[in-house]
Parts: sequence; structure tokens; C-alpha cells
Amino acid sequence: MACALLSSLEDAKVLAGGQSLMPLLNFRLARPAHLVDINRIDGFDRIYERDGGIGVQALARQAAVEDSDLVARACPLLRDALRLVAHRVIRNRGTVCGSLAHADPASELPAVLLALGGGVVAMSARGQRVIAAQDLFTGVFETSLRSDELLAEAWFPASPPKSGIHE
Ligand SMILES: Cc1cc2nc3c(=O)[nH]c(=O)nc-3n(C[C@H](O)[C@H](O)[C@H](O)COP(=O)(O)OP(=O)(O)OC[C@H]3O[C@@H](n4cnc5c(N)ncnc54)[C@H](O)[C@@H]3O)c2cc1C
Repeated sequence: MACALLSSLEDAKVLAGGQSLMPLLNFRLARPAHLVDINRIDGFDRIYERDGGIGVQALARQAAVEDSDLVARACPLLRDALRLVAHRVIRNRGTVCGSLAHADPASELPAVLLALGGGVVAMSARGQRVIAAQDLFTGVFETSLRSDELLAEAWFPASPPKSGIHE
């Protein structure tokens, strides 16, 4: 449904945690004609093991990823970086995928995705495609996501044992 709306509406923006988008709307720095609120999509907040790494779906909140035992074990850099993102109240709403889609060059999570060599799954009414981190971030607040695409999932490769970030 969200993908159908994104493909049919002109000038639509996805609303995830709203922690970056809402301030932009408040200050009239963004004036999209439509908001596609994905918050009530059931079962779109999984944090799970796949393909030697961790998949983080679009509605997984930053706080949930930070608290995940799986993330702590397999991808400690992600857990440690999340502790530096804003403060807990923001992380209770903000999503990992929203931070990646927002592509603020000062953000922690795009840097983590790039450093680990992860990627994202972009979904649209036309299907889905995988975008490697180095092809995702194209400029300041710019990504290679198309206007009708939802960033459905981020994928962070597991860190090998004894890599520098392990305690
Ligand atoms: C006070 C404050 C301090 C902050 N400090 C930091 C910080 O220190 N470090 C840091 O990294 N971040 C910080 N942030 C930003 C925070 O991490 C946001 O949660 C994050 O940048 C955006 O995630 P979101 O889910 O809130 O996205 P939203 O605000 O809902 O959306 C942000 C943008 O991404 C797009 N988008 C969101 N989800 C998707 C999706 N699934 N598919 C396609 N497009 C999508 C939206 O259309 C919008 O353009 C701070 C925010 C606040 C309010």
C-alpha cells in the first residue's frame, strides 16, 4: 500500500520516526504535497540475522536496535554508534532506516553503513533492488533512492571476531 501511494502521488515523502522530517516541516524547509505515514504497517520492525549480517527493517526504532542482543553480539559498532545519536527520547521514535534515507553527512548511521560495507533494500511498486552503501549516498542529504522507493531494510554485515570494535 505505501509503495502504491508513493508511486501514484506527486511530491510525497515517507514519514517514519519524524525526528528529522517534522522539524523540517515545522520550519517550512520541506513542503511535500503528501506524507506517506508508514508507522502503522504491522511486522515491519524486525531486527534479524540474514546473509552473514543483520537486517533492520524500516520501522525498527533506533532504541530497539541499540538494545538488541543480536546487534550487540554481531555488530557492536552499530550499537556503539547508536548510543551517540541524539538522546534516548529521540531514539525511541527515530528509525535506523530513516536516518539512512535522510543522509545527513553529520549522522552516525550512514558512516557506520559505509564503514562496514552494508547496503539497503529499496522497495517500490516496480519491485525491489539492493543498493550498496557506496552507491546510496550521493551528496549532502541526497541518496540514490528514487521518489517512489521506500527504504525497506538496511543490512549491516556482522563483524568478524577480534575486529577492533569488539570489547
Ligand atoms: C534533537 C535531535 C537530535 C538529533 N541528533 C542526532 C545525532 O546526534 N545523530 C544523528 O545521526 N541523528 C540525529 N538526529 C536525527 C535522528 O536520528 C532521526 O531519527 C533520523 O535522522 C531520521 O529518522 P526518522 O525515522 O526520524 O525519519 P523521519 O524524520 O521520519 O524522515 C527523515 C527523512 O527520511 C525519509 N525517510 C524516512 N524513512 C524512510 C524510508 N523507510 N524510506 C524512504 N525514505 C524515508 C523521510 O521522507 C525524510 O525525508 C537528531 C534528531 C533530533 C530531533
